[in-house]
Amino acid sequence: MPEFCDVALPVPLDTAFSYRVPEGMQPAVGGRVLVSFRQQRMSGIVIDLHDRTPAVVTKNVVSVLDASPVLDAQLLRLGKWIADYYLAPVGEVFRTMLPLSAEFKRTIVYRIAEQGQLALHLGGMSGSSARARRTPEEQLSEFRVLDYLANRDEASEQSLRSAASVSRAVLAGMVRKKWIVREDVSDARDAARFVKVAVLRSAEDSHSALVPGEHPSAGSGQAAHSATSKLNANQQTLIETLAGAGGRVALKTLQALDVPRTTLNTLVKRGLIDIVEEPAEFHVSSSKPRPSPFDFQFNPAQQQALQRIEQGVAARKFAGMLLHGVTGSGKTAVYLAGMRAVLEAGHSAILLVPEIGLTPAVAADLHQVFGDEVAILHSALSDKERAEQWHRIKRGDARMVVGTRSAVFAPVADLALIIVDEEQDSSYKQEESPRYHARDVAVMRAKMADAMVVLGSATPSLESYYNAKKNKYALVELPDRVEQRPLPEVELIDMKQEFQETGQEQVISRKLAEEIRERLEPKEQVMILLNRRGYSPVALCRACGSRMECRNCAVAMTHHKGSRRMVCHYCGFQAPIPKTCGECGSEYVYFLGTGSEKLEELLHGMFPSARIGRLDRDTVRGNEDFERVLNALNEGQLDLLVGTQMIAKGHDVHGVTLVGVVGADTALGLPDFRAAERTFQLLTQVAGRAGRGQTPGKVVLQTYFPDHYAVQYAAHHDFVGFYEKELQFRSWMHYPPYSALANVLVRSDKLEEALQWSGILGKWFDGTRHEGVRVLGPAAAPIVRLKRDYRYHFVLKSASREKLNALLRTMVAYAVSQKIPRTQVIVDVDALWLM
Ligand SMILES: [Zn+2]
Ligand SMILES: [Zn+2]
Repeated sequence: MPEFCDVALPVPLDTAFSYRVPEGMQPAVGGRVLVSFRQQRMSGIVIDLHDRTPAVVTKNVVSVLDASPVLDAQLLRLGKWIADYYLAPVGEVFRTMLPLSAEFKRTIVYRIAEQGQLALHLGGMSGSSARARRTPEEQLSEFRVLDYLANRDEASEQSLRSAASVSRAVLAGMVRKKWIVREDVSDARDAARFVKVAVLRSAEDSHSALVPGEHPSAGSGQAAHSATSKLNANQQTLIETLAGAGGRVALKTLQALDVPRTTLNTLVKRGLIDIVEEPAEFHVSSSKPRPSPFDFQFNPAQQQALQRIEQGVAARKFAGMLLHGVTGSGKTAVYLAGMRAVLEAGHSAILLVPEIGLTPAVAADLHQVFGDEVAILHSALSDKERAEQWHRIKRGDARMVVGTRSAVFAPVADLALIIVDEEQDSSYKQEESPRYHARDVAVMRAKMADAMVVLGSATPSLESYYNAKKNKYALVELPDRVEQRPLPEVELIDMKQEFQETGQEQVISRKLAEEIRERLEPKEQVMILLNRRGYSPVALCRACGSRMECRNCAVAMTHHKGSRRMVCHYCGFQAPIPKTCGECGSEYVYFLGTGSEKLEELLHGMFPSARIGRLDRDTVRGNEDFERVLNALNEGQLDLLVGTQMIAKGHDVHGVTLVGVVGADTALGLPDFRAAERTFQLLTQVAGRAGRGQTPGKVVLQTYFPDHYAVQYAAHHDFVGFYEKELQFRSWMHYPPYSALANVLVRSDKLEEALQWSGILGKWFDGTRHEGVRVLGPAAAPIVRLKRDYRYHFVLKSASREKLNALLRTMVAYAVSQKIPRTQVIVDVDALWLM
């Protein structure tokens, strides 16, 4: 075994660290080891084993957590590529790739030191020392700590703190005085992972557990029977589920049933069911839904798309495809059919979906098609559940993986196909380190795996469409909606004109109101998009003109009427509703503008008999809430649904015949070169919700920018027209896809530091040759203060990604040499937001 190993640790440093491998230990490249790093224990990934003696003295590896690699050679390579491409610390990349934090347990222990013994026995406690300016209470707590530790070898922080009832601060003080020693002995949890399983008691042993007297005469054979005969409907459901699955079902599966949790407890108390822990490996999943026959009627375009995927997969070499299908054209069916072909051929596939796409209904469909071969990774999973799913995939138990962003790292073997649904969705970009874009990582992973990658969208990103036009990907179109349903007719309403004609600012134009009324009569359904939550977005003082801003951010606080708070939508800070102006004390505080909450109220006033629902982040906490509201719409319990961009995402509600758009074009005023693209995408997506059933749909699009090309092309369902026009603009301005772009943000909670640091970097850029890279800045970021940080930024553009990358790399090294903390200089390669 080589003498040393290099370990990538999850710290914001662009380097790996060398450790000595003690005799007898056998770490593996790609496996985890536990090491000490700055008085802490950390788990890191071994990236190299070697005999080169490091320049600095090395510590020993504490323990080896994995006998075999958790990251195979391909994923290691992918991780290094991400670190390089996005200038991210490689240890942070690996941590993102491995959702196994639940297997690592933090433990801090304390021991009494010699000086502590002395203090305890020689009266050092009495406070005679000159430095001791401690209150009697503090002396007493210190005594309790020493007394507790004197009687044992060591104590965990948790037990010590509760036994001596002391704060961490007291312990830290005692460590400084060298009375006690603190040690981090964090380690991996027990290697075997356990799951809770409900077990139906067999008839033979159930009688002993029954409450005495309840079935006094029951013999062993009848015990269970007579007990079950007295069950209520919920209890019956649970018992039947268990019996139907051979008597053993994972607790999680039972909890997913529509039965109160107390029911299970009651059955356990009555001795009919046991809850046992079993190692996850031995756990056999209960109900194995058979993959259904999967009989989709494909139209010729769908058929052709599927064929292309099947051919690509069969070739087993890298191929990219952009599947551009209008809203409602049946892309999902093509994905699932393609994945099923991969499964039948014995390979693996990954389907990435946007954040909001993974509703329980979607999960049910996936189980229907793939049975137990599917692993679903979504943001609502706990760390433990995520780790479980990861191991299932790693073991090869689940070869079909569906999930949000980080599912691109799923440890499948023999990957043949990656599909990225709604590839333009911004939730694929991680907005913290490592700032990777899952779509681009998917393409790279497919290249490394000789696999096929399919990017699907109704509104492809300019980058992807450009790549397809340049023949980097095959372009496959689904130009028609399924069953020849027409795309909805779009009517534009000029809100400036509406203002002139009615003499006042309108939220709902006369035309939209009329169209809504027409739909409510025959019980058709309406969706209204207002991409701004809350009641009023601005609170303004009429006396001095100041607006109420967040304490931590340079943005206006939003009035939320229902919760009676002012809320910052950027950092979450909340404040009471102001009665007087915070600047001048005037009572003339006015609330301006309309958010989704106010729109709902307004519509209630206009259409008192309509049943109105609202879908935004205030009404939706998780995917289940989301599903509940959509179900209500689907089942006709709602006439009108108001919401933010959440309502625009790809769900199929057949009763919606009218979509109203109320202020979706505010983004056009933002200082961001992607504003037009985002607006076009949002308008197209939301328009796509109309007319997915038998009745054709209509869209009423209210706008203050009726002539803007993003609005015009969206109104005409003309993606290619928009694309050509936008591309011209990007080309003139040297924006992506004509250049590689990076945003460098310098931040500090102290204004002077933010200014100073951005000044240092500005001077460095000025004094450094950077041919072929344009550097703009330093400038105040459009949101100059966010979450307490002052923010200044540079925007870098280059036709050559290599040059851009090299310059950024040198810049980061220079920043570190100037003692600018690495965490305060954020390098965002291919940034989606320049705010
Ligand atoms: Zn004022
Ligand atoms: Zn804030």
